[in-house]
Amino acid sequence: SGGSNSSQGRSIATAQPAQEERLVVAVRVRPSMEAAERCIEVVSGGSLLYDDGGKSRPRQYSYDHVFRENDTQEQVYKTTTAPLVRDVLNGLNAAVFAYGATGSGKTHTMLGPVPRKKPQTAPDRPPATASCEATDVSSLDIGLMVRAIEDIFSHIESAEADTCRVSISYLEIYNELIRDLLNPGGPLELREDHRGQRITVAGLSEITTASRKEVVSLLMKGNKARTMEPTAANQTSSRSHALLSITVQARTPLGTKQGRLFLTDLAGSERAKKTKNRGKRLQEGAHINRSLLALGNCINALSGGARYVNYRDSKLTRLLKEALSGRCKTVMIAHVAPESKHRDETKNTLVYADRANSITTKLQNSVYIDEFKDFPTKHYQSLVSELRDEV
Ligand code: ADP
Ligand code: MG
Repeated sequence: SGGSNSSQGRSIATAQPAQEERLVVAVRVRPSMEAAERCIEVVSGGSLLYDDGGKSRPRQYSYDHVFRENDTQEQVYKTTTAPLVRDVLNGLNAAVFAYGATGSGKTHTMLGPVPRKKPQTAPDRPPATASCEATDVSSLDIGLMVRAIEDIFSHIESAEADTCRVSISYLEIYNELIRDLLNPGGPLELREDHRGQRITVAGLSEITTASRKEVVSLLMKGNKARTMEPTAANQTSSRSHALLSITVQARTPLGTKQGRLFLTDLAGSERAKKTKNRGKRLQEGAHINRSLLALGNCINALSGGARYVNYRDSKLTRLLKEALSGRCKTVMIAHVAPESKHRDETKNTLVYADRANSITTKLQNSVYIDEFKDFPTKHYQSLVSELRDEV
């Protein structure tokens, strides 16, 4: 009852500084992999029916948007992320995060199809990083991260060259350790300013470039540096959270306006027991649960209107604090598989998304900073030219 019958779902309001905003929640149903019994039926652009296998009557869930199996990457981009890009260009912060069990389509949404890796057999091998084989991805399949970058460059291309600056950073959280995906090395530490307000990652590369092609190749290279582990559930399951941040600075007569877009591909939300994890990987499962549990606790607290929300329990929630606590417009895209065998994970995700749907945030005014930040671009010039040679 009470489900939205609009075929478009509710639209995202345009930026109104210091206005109350609800966290926008979308659910995306990935295509069925086989001719199997289904537990999900999409009934409109804003609602779906979930079938628990006949124990009770199918239950309807409503969200801001529900994407069907054959909805395109472009539709998902236009509905969820394109409005945020406009806000970021106006000096606001925004975030999109992809939630769901392994195999539900998170990486497909954020990045597009990723080539499958050969499974490893030895259980105690160190984490593998994907090799750098070329990918041949159809432009229709390109995911939100690249679409957002392309879109930002298209918007600012008309502006004069030295009035806008785009820079990106890309990191992963794996076993509660932060790694720089643009310049892989040892783990990086989180820093807080003296009031505990602003969180930064010490030593994280922030690469500025005027070339959209270069940003895209940096992103692809960064993604190949993501830690991947084979598990019983999915050979290419990603056990890490990946956070891309795109910063846009624009010089205006009032000062420099800065907006930032966070795009996050979360690790699989499934429980550790399902993947028959042993030893090291069981520990990973525990860490992933810790981060996602902390995120879930924050979402519960925020949706219940709690006065105190604990962001400190995990690296993920410390980094996403800004995205969740209101100084940001946030869209969550929850991913579900339609086959009945994934019914339990699907239900967990639908309930999680339902809770997130009642979070209200307060949007901050546009951010002006006095000067362009002194980006350590020289430091990365050799890295960038090295990457250029590889493209
Ligand atoms: P996750 O990142 O959540 O583990 P993936 O994005 O890797 O899941 O998706 C699992 C598989 O399903 C991949 O082979 C992916 O290409 C495919 N897939 C997921 N979503 C879609 C979609 N919307 N359209 C086509 N294929 C998809
Ligand atoms: Mg993935």
